[in-house]
Amino acid sequence: MMGLIDTEALVLKSYNLSEADKIVVFLTREHGLIRGVAKGARRLKSRFGGSLEPFSIVQLTYFQKEERDLVSIRNSEIIRSFFESAADPDIFNKFAYIVELLNDFSPPEDPNERLYRMARICLETTAGEPARLTQLVLYFELWLLKLNGFLPAWENCEICKRPLADNEKTNLQANFQIVCRNCQKTRSNRQIEGEMREIYRAAQRVSPARFLELTAGRLAEVRELSEILKKLISNILGRETIGEKLLLSNK
Ligand SMILES: [Zn+2]
Repeated sequence: MMGLIDTEALVLKSYNLSEADKIVVFLTREHGLIRGVAKGARRLKSRFGGSLEPFSIVQLTYFQKEERDLVSIRNSEIIRSFFESAADPDIFNKFAYIVELLNDFSPPEDPNERLYRMARICLETTAGEPARLTQLVLYFELWLLKLNGFLPAWENCEICKRPLADNEKTNLQANFQIVCRNCQKTRSNRQIEGEMREIYRAAQRVSPARFLELTAGRLAEVRELSEILKKLISNILGRETIGEKLLLSNK
């Protein structure tokens, strides 16, 4: 894709490039992850104003030359800013984690509009329901894995392949699949209760707002599932994420 491009985008992060300029990373709705130079963005009276702040949803115009990695950012207009919500350190850390994962799971030139829409709706729902951010982070983690083909199917025992009953106790394996009691070899593995699998299944079927309602009184299970998915995500990336470093330590 070359030339002048206009798209909705989420600002993931920015770096200083020189005294006057910044490099900004966006997740765009139609063109995936892009990195661009915003000329003059560090000046006091920049034409970009606050539109390059992380977590902002913007209408972005940029120019792409075929041979360049970095696009040239021409214009950015705020559609929705989450700057105020992110003043709360707990919300900030969770937003930072979401943004980190979007950056890591979005290869350049590989647009994923469903991922973009899911990220946007998660940020919007969060801003309206900050107290339920823990549930929403789980929803985000689960969909990020699902849309990238990494979410284990927890419908059947991995070994005997038998469909699992709703209330059946199962055990998590090192590969993040689950097995039934007959097939489990050691007792040391983490147990996955029927209720946890129910939440796991529900997240794949309902909207974020509905998921928050469904899991309102089930925070222990939500935390436990989120902890498992954080470990799976770190395994896939081959390193610890902000999620493991910050979010698991202050439970
Ligand atoms: Zn089995």
